Amino acid sequence: MNKVVGTQCSICKTAYTLEEVTYTCPKDGGVLDVVLDVAAIKAAVKPEDIWASRDFSMWRYLPLLPVEDPGYRGTPLRSVGWTPVYQPPQLAAELGMRRLWLKDESGNPSASFKDRASALLVAKAIEIGAEVVVTASTGNAGAALAGMAAAAGQKAVIFAPKTAPPAKVAQLLVYGSEVILVDGNYDDAVALAVEVADTFGWYCRNTGYNPFTAEGKKTAAFEIWEQVIASNNLGKPLNVFVPVGDGNIISGVHKGFRDLYALGWLQQMPCIFGVQSTGSAAIANAFFSGTEEIKPVSATTMADSISVDMPSDGLRALRAATQTGGAYVVVEDEAILKAIASLGKVGIFSEPAAATAFAGLRKALADDLIAPEDPTLVLLTGSGLKDVKAAMQAAGEAPVIAPNLQALQAFFAAKG
Ligand SMILES: *Cc1c(COP(=O)(O)O)cnc(C)c1O
Ligand SMILES: [Zn+2]
Repeated sequence: MNKVVGTQCSICKTAYTLEEVTYTCPKDGGVLDVVLDVAAIKAAVKPEDIWASRDFSMWRYLPLLPVEDPGYRGTPLRSVGWTPVYQPPQLAAELGMRRLWLKDESGNPSASFKDRASALLVAKAIEIGAEVVVTASTGNAGAALAGMAAAAGQKAVIFAPKTAPPAKVAQLLVYGSEVILVDGNYDDAVALAVEVADTFGWYCRNTGYNPFTAEGKKTAAFEIWEQVIASNNLGKPLNVFVPVGDGNIISGVHKGFRDLYALGWLQQMPCIFGVQSTGSAAIANAFFSGTEEIKPVSATTMADSISVDMPSDGLRALRAATQTGGAYVVVEDEAILKAIASLGKVGIFSEPAAATAFAGLRKALADDLIAPEDPTLVLLTGSGLKDVKAAMQAAGEAPVIAPNLQALQAFFAAKG
């Protein structure tokens, strides 16, 4: 089955074949959307076929993905996705909500959402016979690429800022990729990865540059459709909260819902809400100003995975909200720490960027952007183990006592 027609520029709408252009639009640098052959897919598969699948991973959506079956069954590459959705009653009660879902991506093989993009990219790299895959990363995209590449025996090179949290760097190294830290920020690493890919002919996975990353990320929307929308009688569009840095996750989620809508498998588009830190709010700033002009900021947030000066997928990320009746919300780092603590208390351990989405839900309720009775899902994109320093900031330090009962009783007495 031919699943893909080609690509289309998100700015000038020029259509390309997959052979013509590998990365962004040659005319204006616009990020390319992958265009599915909707008629061919519709003729070949029905939603029921997918719902009946026993493949509990993102690969259950292979008929809607722009790659052939990559093989590698029984490896981490094949176990990405189909992450759980939780409905913690304590949080719903605290927020006065009845229908709240939290989709936790920390159970992916490298413990973040980024595995979805990297699994698809590695499958693509093998399909086109790429010798080396290279990427810039704040940590998670690199760890995901390194992990997926290791699973498939593909060579990978990762550039990350030297300020990346140690847990993420450790992960990169353990997976055995070539890891090079740059004495600069994420944006510097991005530029270097592009130059290196051009010079050496390597395949570049950079977010908001390679059109296939969003195609992997869209599988989260497919799962939300299956796990929440199609299996509940919502009556209203689902609100979906997504943390935003480069804007590729939110663009991918939007693309997934658009694909389902185009296939006629989704009747009502969800409303998509992007959440940024006030210290890294380039896309939110554009949303608030009512234009599509995204201006760089000088990013300063403790949520390293969404700390970006100039988002590489900003335009599509903005449209994910403006075209679905959603919005952008910004939250202080203080609120992000509080969100880590709240999620922890219901058994979910999130890294700062992931908790940002939950902080955004709180903000949207406070600002009356959404109503408590609205069905709402929050996408929690990565594990708290990725950034232990931030977790300690959120949770505080543990007391130290002498190892005897009196000391414990004295401690409890002092605590009151
Ligand atoms: C990368 C990442 C994000 C942000 O995704 P963008 O595509 O950069 O907007 C959010 N949370 C986590 C955990 C991430 O790794
Ligand atoms: Zn263009």
